Amino acid sequence: MTPRLSRRNFGLLAAAGLLAVPTTRAAAAAAAQTPYDEARELAGTDPVLCALVAALTPGVSYPTLPSAQAPIRLFDNLAMLSAGWVSAMAVLTDDGIVLIDALTSPADAENIIVPGLRALGADPAAIKYVVVTHGHSDHYGGARLLADRYGARVLMHPADWDLLARTAPADAPARDLDILDGHRLTLGGTTLRLHHTPGHTPGTVSPIIPVRAGDRRHTAMLWGGMLPPTTLPDLRTYLASVQSFRTRIVHAGADVELSNHPNDHGLERAEQLRAHPDGPNPFLLGRPRTERFTAVMDAMLRGRIADTEAAGIRAEPHRCC
Ligand SMILES: [Zn+2]
Ligand SMILES: [Zn+2]
Repeated sequence: MTPRLSRRNFGLLAAAGLLAVPTTRAAAAAAAQTPYDEARELAGTDPVLCALVAALTPGVSYPTLPSAQAPIRLFDNLAMLSAGWVSAMAVLTDDGIVLIDALTSPADAENIIVPGLRALGADPAAIKYVVVTHGHSDHYGGARLLADRYGARVLMHPADWDLLARTAPADAPARDLDILDGHRLTLGGTTLRLHHTPGHTPGTVSPIIPVRAGDRRHTAMLWGGMLPPTTLPDLRTYLASVQSFRTRIVHAGADVELSNHPNDHGLERAEQLRAHPDGPNPFLLGRPRTERFTAVMDAMLRGRIADTEAAGIRAEPHRCC
């Protein structure tokens, strides 16, 4: 026989952790009708997660974004250099700079990255490495200029070096260093981990970056390829990458979320930080919210896969006829 619980006893047991009270995520999953509903439940009113849901919603039309944004240090050792719709991150170390992505063109490198670093008190000639998250021109566009002028080494996953070799764009950097899954890149005592997360392109890479705020140390994640692919095999690959990266960020204790596109409320958060430099850092989400970012991606991707599968099933009779 099950004893009836009074509301007070229920509250006491719950407070003591003696009841299996559903977590927000489990409750969201149980109540959700579709993966998209699950994602929206997870996001709640969180502006970072709501922006992610919006960005991954099928047929989304992107708002008009500013063409460029003033450079800003998001953390003591991390600067954002933004062209507005796409951003590069500079990891500043005692022995030089690791640049994550290089914006869209040599002109962006000349007009945004170089003066941006100088404005923040960093020397662009100290760029030692350019980590290109994937082989699309909005991420490698400025790499060649930085390699030619400053001798920066350019890193990309071999699958995306191959992608560039096949398409041979005139502005691509010369093939240089390969990134392998789990690659450790160390400069000036700072070690980044570079994880292979294919799906957006075959060689997309997502970094995990140690960052500092005063005497506090944090761990940032940066998802390298935001826009989901369209074919079912690529979507499944992308979802598997989201899930493996989620495991890795949990293991790393990631508590900061960054993106190379402003699908994460990133431009607004940068302006909040600029306006209130001594307030809470809006990029510091804490571990549960940072993991939830990947949980929202996971749910949205499952929605995209279900949509694509349904479209395929509907398409079957037409192919047969
Ligand atoms: Zn891309
Ligand atoms: Zn892009």
